[in-house]
Amino acid sequence: MSHPISQTLSSGAGGCLRIDLPALADNYARLKQQAPNAVAGAVVKANAYGLGVIPVTQTLYAAGCRDFFVALAREAFELRPHLPTDAKLYILNGLPAGAEGPCAAQDIIPVLNSTEQITRWAEQARIEGRTLPCALQVDTGMSRLGLSPDELDAFLANPPKGFDIRLLMSHLACADEPDNPANSYQLKAMQRAMDRFPNVPVSFANSGGIFLNPAYHHDLIRPGIALYGGAPHDGKPNPMKPVIRLDIAVTQTRTVPAGAHIGYGGTFVSDREMRLATLSAGYADGLPRALSNRGAAWFDGVRLPIVGRVSMDSIIIDISALKPDAVQAGSFVELIGPHQSVDDLARDAETISYEILTQLGSRYHRHYIPVKP
Ligand SMILES: *Cc1c(COP(=O)(O)O)cnc(C)c1O
Repeated sequence: MSHPISQTLSSGAGGCLRIDLPALADNYARLKQQAPNAVAGAVVKANAYGLGVIPVTQTLYAAGCRDFFVALAREAFELRPHLPTDAKLYILNGLPAGAEGPCAAQDIIPVLNSTEQITRWAEQARIEGRTLPCALQVDTGMSRLGLSPDELDAFLANPPKGFDIRLLMSHLACADEPDNPANSYQLKAMQRAMDRFPNVPVSFANSGGIFLNPAYHHDLIRPGIALYGGAPHDGKPNPMKPVIRLDIAVTQTRTVPAGAHIGYGGTFVSDREMRLATLSAGYADGLPRALSNRGAAWFDGVRLPIVGRVSMDSIIIDISALKPDAVQAGSFVELIGPHQSVDDLARDAETISYEILTQLGSRYHRHYIPVKP
């Protein structure tokens, strides 16, 4: 098999995105180890954070995962045929009107987030004359999805028939900030909800929650970003293995004199003779325009600053620090890899790893490193 970089060149792609499936499996094992008394599920919404939902779920299933979470019913309909029948598939954003029949038929478990969704799922159970599975979400302080305490009271005062409640869940708003008092406030609210459903398994922790403390683990953890190598806690050492590597091809190099205007708007003007390389990826490939005059690429351990604005399909970097012919047309520079993590790149772009991953473009050559049998 030829090397992923030569495959990238012959495919005509501007960059090579390597996705390390063994590292993904190791991260899943690491999270299980962190929460040994809980079952470990996986959040695979948004095409598994941009990394490819089919290879990611296959790898996680082989690693023992049986509980998968997507955001949208549409994502569930697309994924369900690829999952073995013993895998459970939950829709985090809840049950859209009109999706009740297809969800029930395909054994998809909606997370019921409102009284209105509960009513429609109960009606579906009545129509089909059978019990239907669901998860029930309570709002413990994020004000995004889930039942308020009053709605929970109404539910318990008049519990719908035909529900098999598989999970009681809620979501942490500040789990990436371990010192934020919102975490323990939400935990107390979760405990109040749990007291009212003593026999229902509980799921609370996302990636950040798993690393808070065991009080947040409950019965089922729901990591997303940590599986994909993102740091669970902001500004703390990252215990996860990197899962992606992104290298971008150099299209051409040039030397410019002092006073040259670089890129759209001429926002960078050289103050000396400089050597530049133009890279064949831009904001259309998910490299944020906010990296203009801020971020960097790396080559051979040397940081190569981005100069001028990020364009749709290209980025200009300053390669003056390298030996004259070290980088040429057809060379590749590292955007995400051993010298620059996805969190580093996100910080330079004033965003978060989640946004970098989910925006990774479809124009890269994607190479999946397989798990060895
Ligand atoms: C996205 C999401 C997760 C995963 O969060 P990470 O921070 O990526 O681990 C878990 N639960 C819910 C409800 C989510 O929306």
